Amino acid sequence: MRPTRAASALVAALLAACGFGAAGPGTASAASVVLPHAIAATRSSDVPSGAEIYQKRKQLYDAISAKTGLDWQMVAAIDQYERTMSRAHPKSRPKKDDAVVGVYVSESDWSGNLNPDPDDDNPSSIRFFYGIGRDGSGDGRAEREQDEDALYSVAVQALKQGISDDDFSIGLWEYYHNTRAVQRILQYAKMYRHFDRLDLRGSAFPLPVGHSYSFRSTWGNGRSWGGYRIHEGTDIFAGHGVTVRSTCYGVVEIKGWNAFGGWRIGIRDLNNLYHYYAHLSGYEKSLKVGDIVKPGQTIGWVGSSGYGKPGTQGKFPPHLHYGVYRDRGLVEWAFDPYPLLKRWERDEFKSLRNRK
Ligand SMILES: [Zn+2]
Repeated sequence: MRPTRAASALVAALLAACGFGAAGPGTASAASVVLPHAIAATRSSDVPSGAEIYQKRKQLYDAISAKTGLDWQMVAAIDQYERTMSRAHPKSRPKKDDAVVGVYVSESDWSGNLNPDPDDDNPSSIRFFYGIGRDGSGDGRAEREQDEDALYSVAVQALKQGISDDDFSIGLWEYYHNTRAVQRILQYAKMYRHFDRLDLRGSAFPLPVGHSYSFRSTWGNGRSWGGYRIHEGTDIFAGHGVTVRSTCYGVVEIKGWNAFGGWRIGIRDLNNLYHYYAHLSGYEKSLKVGDIVKPGQTIGWVGSSGYGKPGTQGKFPPHLHYGVYRDRGLVEWAFDPYPLLKRWERDEFKSLRNRK
């Protein structure tokens, strides 16, 4: 499956629309960009807590699952992928503050391209104009901004070819016309199936926090050992062989040699961030591409591999190069992981202290 011409037009549109703000709003880096009044708003008593939101979502996924035959993990995976896109593109995919789902469907996709009424919520006239809007809640109306209707309508699209995993992948491809979207949704479904729960929040600092290591903000610093024109990441200096751990719940997406990064590993998380660990001296033996990991799980060891043919080591002091990239749909942007690293380190010190 290759990107279509429409997809490359989309890439161009995305590039134009997004500018070069590397650290997009939302998810993992939200704390640093949220405005004070927004923080106050999220603390008011009628806003559900994190656990309550997960509970609400799970109920909805179960309901859609019962209606469509898709397992809840697949429904959750579609919704979570869409949520990451809505967070990456808040202007073109506006969501109501109280929306439980992340799914976004444009007016014309919902009501049908030639439908004279873009706000149409009549299921039969929407069908007549080939809109994708369906009534998922059973109230006789197909409302674009109603959680159950929106999620059900997208699930129905994904199921057009059938319900087996292969049919489902083809259905996703036909709906999104984007291999990354399909890959992401299948990765997320695998994670939800593996842990058999929706709430997969948690983080860890990539090295054991008791160990001796040092790092500072090296974003954009051209003299570091990352192999990029600008340095896209943070270098954490530590002794050869110090444990490297996953910072998140995720799926191993890439593992192997890269001329610049040496032995490196890439892990995808549920916020659609790609965590990149480079210059390792070795990998945790049992780890394969497609495996699921959790925060704090050992994935390899600090080394100085890279800058040459496979196995090259020692061209620079041993360190972990850690980078984070946000998938924005068709392109991926690096952002500075330093604030995240500081936060994870602090959180871990705090929980270690509390355990004493
Ligand atoms: Zn580096």
